[in-house]
Amino acid sequence: MSSGVRLLVLGKQGAGKGTQAVRIARHSGVPHISTGDMFRAAAASRTPFGLKAKEFMKRGELVPDDIVIGVVAERLAKEDVVDVGFVLDGFPRTRVQAEELQRLLGPGGLDAALDIDVPTDVVIDRISGRRVCRTCGATYHVDKPPKVKWLCDKDGGDVVQREDDQPEAIKRRLELYERETGPLLEFYDGLGLLATVDGVGEPDDVFDRINDGVETVRALRLPSSRGPR
Ligand code: ADP
Repeated sequence: MSSGVRLLVLGKQGAGKGTQAVRIARHSGVPHISTGDMFRAAAASRTPFGLKAKEFMKRGELVPDDIVIGVVAERLAKEDVVDVGFVLDGFPRTRVQAEELQRLLGPGGLDAALDIDVPTDVVIDRISGRRVCRTCGATYHVDKPPKVKWLCDKDGGDVVQREDDQPEAIKRRLELYERETGPLLEFYDGLGLLATVDGVGEPDDVFDRINDGVETVRALRLPSSRGPR
């Protein structure tokens, strides 16, 4: 994948969006924008906005569109994003958010919408066993714990289960994915932007597939986005 990419990442909870979005961003030299991370950081610093977002997150509900859109619009207007691009992780999740993103970016403002495809039974296993470092966000699984239980290999932080990785919240998040976010695949396919990639397997292999998928979509788009000569 070449540098300066403008990409969004779709996929069920536990599909590996976060892991792969970080890799793509590092590889392409663009900022990684995760709405979930932004809300968790705001909740941890106990700002009024963060505490409000936390109420929705812990139940597995979506944060209301107007709040999310405001936060993303502000981030996309920052110089680093305007200059080099972005990898959006966890946004958009509703039709309203997707339409607003199109409006914010304008025509040709997105290179591709990447869908990391993983069957539901696999993601349920991944999320219910997932454990995360409270400080750096590194992820582990009960079958693949850190070397010293339960302290992060990277920074020694406590490795815990996310509040919204409890069974009831997982069920609700997956229901909302089906209902609100799943239809966005058709939306981006209609715009000729969708790259669907098989997300089962080793992270390195998935990353290779992502590079190929995104390059294919970009190559198909280039002639029309350049316009007539
Ligand atoms: P996951 O995709 O595994 O649920 P995230 O870290 O991306 O985890 O998001 C955590 C929570 O943050 C979501 O369950 C939701 O409450 C909230 N959230 C994140 N992004 C959005 C969004 N685009 N719209 C509404 N709520 C969001």
